[in-house]
Amino acid sequence: MSDRDELLQIVRQAKEHVAWLERGGSFGLPRGEVAPPKPAAVAPPAARTVAAPRVAASAVAASAAPPAAAPSIVAPPSEGMGAAKLAAIREELGDCQRCKLAGKRTNIVYGVGNPDAPLVFVGEAPGADEDRTGEPFVGAAGQLLTKMIEAMGLARGDVYICNILKCRPPGNRNPEPDEIAECEPFLKKQLAAIRPRMIVALGKFAAQCLLRSDAPISRLRGTWKEYQGIPLMPTYHPAFLLRTPSAKRDVWSDLQEVMRELDRLGIVRGKKP
Ligand code: URA
Repeated sequence: MSDRDELLQIVRQAKEHVAWLERGGSFGLPRGEVAPPKPAAVAPPAARTVAAPRVAASAVAASAAPPAAAPSIVAPPSEGMGAAKLAAIREELGDCQRCKLAGKRTNIVYGVGNPDAPLVFVGEAPGADEDRTGEPFVGAAGQLLTKMIEAMGLARGDVYICNILKCRPPGNRNPEPDEIAECEPFLKKQLAAIRPRMIVALGKFAAQCLLRSDAPISRLRGTWKEYQGIPLMPTYHPAFLLRTPSAKRDVWSDLQEVMRELDRLGIVRGKKP
C-alpha cells in the first residue's frame, strides 16, 4: 500500500470512529475509551475463503465514505433464494416438539432480518421477551445489539439475527446438550440458506457451539475463525455487556474487524447510493 493510500485509510478509519461516537455513544462507550483496532491474529478470513467482492467498483468507492445517519446495506448479489429457503426450513421445523423445551415455550423464535444478509448474528437462546414476541433479540440485550448494529453503519433489517436454540430455556438457564443437538441442524440449514459473507457469534454458547470448541469466549473473541468456510468473529454477548460495560471496548474492536472486512469485500455500509 502506498503512503498516500495508507494515510487515506487512516483518515477514513478516524472519520468512521468519530461518526460512530457522534451517533450518540449509542452503544454506550464514553468518549475516548475505544481501543485502537488490533491487527488480526490470523490471516484475514477472506484471503482463505472469499475469492472476490461480489459488488461493483462503484459500490466499493461508496464504502470509503463514513457511515451516514440512515444506514443500510446494499445487499451483495446472491442467489436471492434466501427467503424461499428460509420459509421451507421454517415449515420443516413446524410446531417443533423435538426437545423438552417445546412444552414450556410460548413462541418458536426462528430468526429475523434480511434473508440474503451478508452478515448474520447468532446468539444463544430466546429470553422472556423473545418467547413472548417470537422475535430474537428484542429485550434489553436485543436493544443493545440493535445499537451495536447501527453503530456499525447498518440497520437491523440489513442483517439476519438468530440463535442456537429456538425456544426459551426456563428461567433463561443455559442451553443443554440434548437441546442443542435437536435445534442446531435447523440453524445450520438457515446459515446454508442465507450464505452470509460473515458471521458474528454472540457469547460463549454461540461461539463454542459453532466452532466445536470449549475454549472460553475471552480467548475465542477478537480473531477470525471459520464456520463451514464462512469467516466467523466471536465476541461477547450483549447481555454480558449490560453487566460488564467495560467489555464494550473489546466488542467494538471486534466489530471494527467485521466492518473492515465488510468494507474490504465492497459491502456498502451507510447511505444507499
Ligand atoms: N439473548 C439471546 O442470546 N438471544 C435472544 O434472542 C435474546 C437474548
